[in-house]
Amino acid sequence: GYLTLYYQPKLTAKGLLLKGVEALARWHDPVKGTISPAQFIAVAERHGLIDVLTRHLLEIALQQKQQWQRRGVSFNLAFNLSPLSLADPALVDWIAKLTAQYGIAPGEITLEVTENALLGELASSIQTLARLRLKGFGIAIDDYGSGFANAQQLSRVPATELKIDRALVHNVATRPQQRTILQNTVEMAHQLQLVTVAEGVEHREDFDLLRQLNVELIQGYFLAKPMPADKLMQSPRL
Ligand code: C2E
Ligand code: CA
Ligand code: CA
Repeated sequence: GYLTLYYQPKLTAKGLLLKGVEALARWHDPVKGTISPAQFIAVAERHGLIDVLTRHLLEIALQQKQQWQRRGVSFNLAFNLSPLSLADPALVDWIAKLTAQYGIAPGEITLEVTENALLGELASSIQTLARLRLKGFGIAIDDYGSGFANAQQLSRVPATELKIDRALVHNVATRPQQRTILQNTVEMAHQLQLVTVAEGVEHREDFDLLRQLNVELIQGYFLAKPMPADKLMQSPRL
């Protein structure tokens, strides 16, 4: 019962409308305080516990989404999948089954997978993603720009969204070379019909530039930090 999810808003760059939230795992230990997912997800992956953990977290997320739905608020919910889970042949069916069980349309859920997950076991991962996409789920390529995927590899992924990594976003307003890379990334994403999301936006100058470069969605401390579900409901943007 110590595991929970926080939710971080993804807002439109133009208009600041709440388009979706990303669910981010938190472990609240009574003694150690809050433990970051960067610490416990990797441990779960190493010890064969990631599938159990993912199922547990997805259930929390869908339960929450159902509650929001019942209150009449609707926005997309993004959920992180471990690259290891993409190799699990049972994954697609249990995600689809659980989503249906909570009365949620697959189009309201986006599954995020990191760019690097798509480099290794490429064929089987892409097959899993294609099956999820066929069922109507959104697919986001996460942390784009932190790894080494090229445009051709990217074009084979049945994605709907490209999340540009904080490394490309942070301080972009003051770094001309970084700006060029970011601008090209956004153009490429749009040519591939992908919605762009800038991650880790902390400064107004970066935010202004991203809006100018036609990045659709903004996620970062500048606009909103990850927060518990009840706090999100108090948001003036709902
Ligand atoms: P991620 O998927 O790239 O999530 C974004 C991370 O950036 C989150 O860290 C978020 O709190 C942080 N962030 C958001 N805005 C800003 C900003 O403006 N500045 C900075 N410096 N950071 C910002 P968090 O919550 O610690 O999660 C870390 C990573 O752990 C996630 O990176 C994701 O890869 C993984 N993770 C989190 N929850 C889950 C989960 O439920 N399942 C799996 N498999 N992985 C998860
Ligand atoms: Ca993510
Ligand atoms: Ca990310």
